[in-house]
Amino acid sequence: MTELERKQERAPVPSDWTYAPAPEARDVVTLREQYGHFVGGEWLEPKETYTTISPATEEPLAEVGQATPEEVAAAVDAARSAYENGWSEIAPSERAKYLFRIARILQERSREFAVLESLNGGKPIKESRDVDLPLSAAHFFYYAGWADKLEYAFPNQRPRPLGVAGQIIPWNFPLLMLAWKIAPALAAGNTVVLKPAETTPLSALLFCDVLRQAELPPGVVNIVTGDGRTGAEIVKSDGVDKVAFTGSTDVGKAIQRELAGSGKKLTLELGGKAANIIFDDAALDQAVEGIINGIYFNQGHVCCAGSRLLVQESIYEPVVDKLKRRLTTLRVGDPLDKNTDVGAINSKQQLEKIQQLVASGAEEGAEIYQPPCRLPEKGYWFAPTVFTNVAQSYRIAQEEIFGPVLSILTFRTPEEAVEKANNTPYGLSAGVWTEKGSRILWMAERLRAGVVWANTYNRFDPSSPFGGYRESGFGREGGRHGLEPYLRLT
Ligand code: NDP
Repeated sequence: MTELERKQERAPVPSDWTYAPAPEARDVVTLREQYGHFVGGEWLEPKETYTTISPATEEPLAEVGQATPEEVAAAVDAARSAYENGWSEIAPSERAKYLFRIARILQERSREFAVLESLNGGKPIKESRDVDLPLSAAHFFYYAGWADKLEYAFPNQRPRPLGVAGQIIPWNFPLLMLAWKIAPALAAGNTVVLKPAETTPLSALLFCDVLRQAELPPGVVNIVTGDGRTGAEIVKSDGVDKVAFTGSTDVGKAIQRELAGSGKKLTLELGGKAANIIFDDAALDQAVEGIINGIYFNQGHVCCAGSRLLVQESIYEPVVDKLKRRLTTLRVGDPLDKNTDVGAINSKQQLEKIQQLVASGAEEGAEIYQPPCRLPEKGYWFAPTVFTNVAQSYRIAQEEIFGPVLSILTFRTPEEAVEKANNTPYGLSAGVWTEKGSRILWMAERLRAGVVWANTYNRFDPSSPFGGYRESGFGREGGRHGLEPYLRLT
């Protein structure tokens, strides 16, 4: 036996491969005790407030304003006044400069924003750091580029701004949804009143600091916080010319009813129940990564999540085996730990909705699998979940769960895959995994979805339009298409 072999024999064999904690420093973020509404470039003292918390610990983070109708009206007035007194008239190349500045400041302050986003929303820091922040900055860069080229984007037409845009965003990607909304609105020459979701207002409030740093003229962007009542006030305000909403299908429908006949422009980005379709010739290990990314990214709080897995029958067993094995390696826990893959559920209310739908799946006869994992005692948590033996009629195959829950179905032929994929009231996104290019095109033509990913999933780029149809809404965000809802074209 050599010396080296003797040493190796004496060395303890590691038996525990768990990762050491790698917490991101929290002190990069300074929270105020109370935040007001950002109106006309100033902080307006709120009349009413509520407490925003960290969903991972239930720890209170700050007091935030619950905007009253008068406060919403003040924000709309400020936006109107900024629109009429300068913003709609300044040279488009000047508008572009502000957007470039905002993009660069977001990049400079990205760590601070990423930590805050994970703290207030529960998403893993590696996602807010590597996805939400870079994409948010990229949206501002992208639309900065269009601001002085609108007549090239829409040749032979005269693009003009609409006026004041009322924008209502959800809690799953708070800063990114803000960027998707504000960047094209400003590039097109509009002013904005935006409401973040009740549970995740803090990154939008920190963004007001960026606006000041960029010296954006007062009133061009106004942020009011509060619950659905604040959103409803924005929608019905006479001073708003266009409403952009991302959220649930029910609220989207209510907004559409409210605006019918008003002449206001509307875009709705609503829910989904996407099919992620795996053919037997697909590269299975990559496909399994795509399935994981499709449904467990951001705890499944993703409108385009691949929440229905359609697997070709001949490869059902290897796919399910590989998937279950991969599931055991997902690390669920502290969103601020850099090793965490699956963070906290955004709110108690959302956790209850997930629990209720999961219970219905088990009751209806599906088989549930959850990997062994210890969930933290405080906060809102749900283990990554897979359902097999799912019938198309089950609620878990029809309704948007908006959580880390995957329903697996099978198919035999491409025709059957299309039929099953389209068998929901939604039409937002889909994924196709196959070696055959011709099959990708054949499927993409037949899938009723606004976005179809091939051999990948959850890929976003500011230059690529995103949006759905049927119960997933209408209108597009991103790309040249994303400018159109903010313009009057004559
Ligand atoms: P909502 O549709 O209620 O929330 C989206 C945004 O709209 C929030 O800012 C919300 O405020 C606001 N809002 C609520 N009611 C009104 C109203 N009557 N008029 C105007 N604005 C309003 O979604 P939830 O947060 O309640 O989530 C419920 C379900 O919706 C989820 O389980 C999920 O299935 C789906 N969802 C889909 C999203 C998507 O991207 N497609 C995003 C979020 C949710 P507040 O935050 O105070 O409720």
